Amino acid sequence: MVASYTQLLAERYKGRLDSDADEFIAYAVDGSNRMQGLIQDLLAYSRAGTNGKALRKIPSENALKEALVNLRATIQESGAIVTHDPLPLITTDGTQLAQIFQNLIGNAIKYRSAAVPNVHISAVKNGGDEWIFSVRDNGLGIDPQYFDRIFVLFQRLHGQAEFKGTGIGLAICKKMLEWLGGRIWVESQPEKGSTFHFALPEKDGK
Ligand code: ADP
Repeated sequence: MVASYTQLLAERYKGRLDSDADEFIAYAVDGSNRMQGLIQDLLAYSRAGTNGKALRKIPSENALKEALVNLRATIQESGAIVTHDPLPLITTDGTQLAQIFQNLIGNAIKYRSAAVPNVHISAVKNGGDEWIFSVRDNGLGIDPQYFDRIFVLFQRLHGQAEFKGTGIGLAICKKMLEWLGGRIWVESQPEKGSTFHFALPEKDGK
C-alpha cells in the first residue's frame, strides 16, 4: 500500500507542488519500492531450504530450463548468450535447484562488463559421489579478498546507484545448498569474469 500510494502521489501531483516536493516524493517512491524488494527477498531467504519436499531424481537440465524461462526478459534485454553442456540426472529438489540457477545466471548477466554477456553452465562428477555444477561468466569479476563475503546476507560489492540489489541472492543459494547437503564457492579475477561452482551429493551414487 505504501508503495502504490506514493506512486499514485508521484503520478498525480508531479509539477503541481514545488520542485522540493517532487524530489521528496521520488525518494519516497524509490524507498518504498526497495523496501518491497527487500521484504520479498528476505521472505525467500527465510523459506529457503524449508519447503519440506521429498528429494526426487530429476534431469538437472529441466531446472536450468525453468530458470531460463524466468530470466527470458533479462536475457533478451541484455542480448546475453547462455549455453550449457549436457547436464546430469540428480536426486535433489528441482524447485530449489532452479532458484539457484536463476540467482547465479541472473547475477552473471547483471554484473556484466562492456562485452556481450556470455554465460556457460556445465557439470562434472567429482570422485564418484557428488556433482560439481559451474556457472561461468565473462563479466566484471570479483577481487579474491571478497570471495567469502559475497555469500553473507546483505553483503554487496556494488552500490545501489551502480547495480540495484538487496545482497540476499547468494545467501539464498548458500542456504539452499547447505540444506541439500552441498556447498557453493567462487573462482574469479577482476575484469576476467567469474565462475560460481556448487556441489550436490549424488544420493545413490549412480
Ligand atoms: P545482489 O545482486 O542483490 O547484490 P547477491 O547476494 O546475489 O546480491 O550478490 C552479492 C554481491 O556479489 C553483488 O552485490 C555483487 O557485488 C557480487 N556478485 C555476485 N555475482 C557476481 C558476478 N557474477 N560477477 C561479479 N560480481 C558478482
